[in-house]
Amino acid sequence: NAPSPSTTTVANNKLLDGLLVSSFDGESCLSRYQSYLYRKASPHKPSKYLIFKLRNYEHLHQSCGPYTKFYNNIMRKGTKLSQNNASTKCKYLVWTASNGLGNRILTLAAAFLYAILTDRVLLVKFGADMFGLFCEPFPDSSWLLPRNFPYWKDQKHIETYERMLKKSKVNSSQELLPSFLILNLQHTHDGHNNFFHCDRSQDLLQKIPVLILWSDQYFVPSLFMIPSFTQDLNKMFPEKDTVFHHMGRYLLHPSNEAWEIIRKIYEAHLAKANERIGLQIRVFNTHRASHQTIVNEIMACTLRHRLLPDFDKQDSTTSLLKKTSKAVLVASLFSEYGEKLKTMYRANTTLTREVISVYQPSHEENQKSNDDMHNIKAWTEIYLLSLCDALITSPKSTFGYVAHSLGGLKPWILQRAYGETIPNPPCQRAKSMEPCFHYPPKYDCRANSTVDFTSLFHYMKHCEDVSSGLRLV
Ligand code: GDP
Repeated sequence: NAPSPSTTTVANNKLLDGLLVSSFDGESCLSRYQSYLYRKASPHKPSKYLIFKLRNYEHLHQSCGPYTKFYNNIMRKGTKLSQNNASTKCKYLVWTASNGLGNRILTLAAAFLYAILTDRVLLVKFGADMFGLFCEPFPDSSWLLPRNFPYWKDQKHIETYERMLKKSKVNSSQELLPSFLILNLQHTHDGHNNFFHCDRSQDLLQKIPVLILWSDQYFVPSLFMIPSFTQDLNKMFPEKDTVFHHMGRYLLHPSNEAWEIIRKIYEAHLAKANERIGLQIRVFNTHRASHQTIVNEIMACTLRHRLLPDFDKQDSTTSLLKKTSKAVLVASLFSEYGEKLKTMYRANTTLTREVISVYQPSHEENQKSNDDMHNIKAWTEIYLLSLCDALITSPKSTFGYVAHSLGGLKPWILQRAYGETIPNPPCQRAKSMEPCFHYPPKYDCRANSTVDFTSLFHYMKHCEDVSSGLRLV
């Protein structure tokens, strides 16, 4: 008999090695203290310093969170200008939603890290389609931006970061500063030349009490480029490729409604298998390659990397089937993938005699916005993928990035297929479990010239699936 795990091991596992605090009531968010039962303990431990920064952040959030004296005071001010904003005890970073759920989750994690580094309180502006997805992450407070936020509906008249940047070049710094500022880091916005990663921008931004972030990008690599953050970041993340893995597991706990779905699917379709393989199939342009070509590509990838066994072409008897089994979880907007794979494994015996089961929880056909059930399905599938032992994901998909980073997995990323040809190689192993920043800056703030940041930072590499993107490794 194996010795039963000691009470301390269980406590460590349950609190994810100190990432989480034990003070929450369990019932209001079952996933927070149950997720460890569904996921292998991560080999990546958070550093003591990261844990210290998280506890400090929680204190700050408690004293500055919604409806505190400080919060009410700043929010009442509206757009008024002031000269000594830098001295306010409480400063805020307001997260807003843009693009699909994968993009949103990536920017939430990036925003949280930015908030920690700049002593800001993270507040999230969730619409109806985001409300039901997550539990509150911070003890004894809320991260939800109250509806009485002065610019809940209309942000037209708020000063923007670019305008301020331009002004600051012309004028001296004695100018009156706004209390609210829009920080637009959207990838479509300004040719990726926002200078956000330059220290002089951060000097300016830190004087503004309320920043409203518009972003759909995982801009964490930019934070690593900012000299004034380097020391903190190095201490927080001695292993650079664990940023999302830790921030995501700290921040993102499925709501009870989502958790119920996750648990039920896990127990019915994944729990009993010896190994769980997740397939995330995101097809951005359905005309480029047929579903069949993509299925062929997936089969070529799973065979080459021994993720799934080949078929025994001679034998179709099922009597000698081994007990061992693998479960394949398929996440896709299209039902064809789950169906085709299921039919193939039903009709054929595998060479290893392993039993392969295939399950696809949903097929929404289209990406939808402002639909809460659609987002719950997406979130539960991302989370289920993150509970798998190995993942095959689609190129350039933030949906897949969240799944593999949460799970601490380096996925095999499929190559983009065209026509009937199966790309060779069909897939490539990611160098790191970090998400890719698709549109990183190319401007060297000190040298005032263009640069490839992989030449300045040995822990940044171009992404396997987006050659101009950057991934921390
Ligand atoms: P990306 O576009 O692949 O980077 O991922 P996003 O998550 O940002 O946007 C895609 C959106 O389409 C998701 O948020 C879902 O709403 C939907 N979607 C895409 N793939 C799937 C899937 O496999 N399952 C479900 N349920 N929804 C999906």
